[in-house]
Amino acid sequence: MSALLEVKNLETFYGPIMAIRGVSLEVQKGQVVTVLGANGAGKTTLLKTISGIMDPEKGQILFEGDPIQGREPHQVVRRGIVQVPEGREVFPLLTVEENLSLGAYTRSDRAEIARDRDMVFSYFPILAERREQEAGTLSGGQQQMLAIGRGLMLRPKIMLLDEPSLGLSPLLTQEIFDILRRLNKDEGVTMMLVEQNAAVALDLADQGYVMELGRIVMADSAAKLAASEDIQSFYLGHA
Ligand code: ATP
Repeated sequence: MSALLEVKNLETFYGPIMAIRGVSLEVQKGQVVTVLGANGAGKTTLLKTISGIMDPEKGQILFEGDPIQGREPHQVVRRGIVQVPEGREVFPLLTVEENLSLGAYTRSDRAEIARDRDMVFSYFPILAERREQEAGTLSGGQQQMLAIGRGLMLRPKIMLLDEPSLGLSPLLTQEIFDILRRLNKDEGVTMMLVEQNAAVALDLADQGYVMELGRIVMADSAAKLAASEDIQSFYLGHA
């Protein structure tokens, strides 16, 4: 079976600085794949290159077998690749409901959009309670939920999540990851998740990659990575 998303020998620069140094990885349909790495490893740059916000200098990004590298972000979104950005960039002055409606901007099927909004509310009941509230007045965790919900409104074939645990308490992180797990299992949403929080990410993921200084240095099943000594000492904080 060919991969839903395949990245081959990708290189991305900021001017003279090479941030992605020959990265290759695969995501199969239905999987959760996580990319772990410390601050500055290149995780955000990798997602930005896949979603078309940055152009790679070299390499290929294949989606459903078609090369998409160098396409504009709106073209990438229309293929079904949806990025949920780091820092929960919701529209602060719009209500929860308006944010979700904007999420569906590529679609015109009103009845289906309403159904998807109800699906988002069923996964995130707090958003239903606060549907009339301005997004800027939500807590950090609720804004993260809204950012994920807005991504879901595009019916993504793959959702790219940039550090959903950032700035959240362990309890809220667990709550959000439990919901991501249900979205994967029950709705079949394929996910690529970049995280510094290796413990929660490996617990959710099927496959994992570890990035250091722009390169992939380890690749394995999430279970094997979680059991590896290097991961335990560097990323899981075990002695
Ligand atoms: P973080 O967790 O902080 O988001 P990251 O793993 O996502 O880290 P990137 O943000 O992708 O890492 O950064 C990768 C490398 O590219 C780092 O060395 C960083 O300093 C550099 N970099 C990132 N953004 C820029 C920029 N706008 N201009 C120049 N260099 C940048």
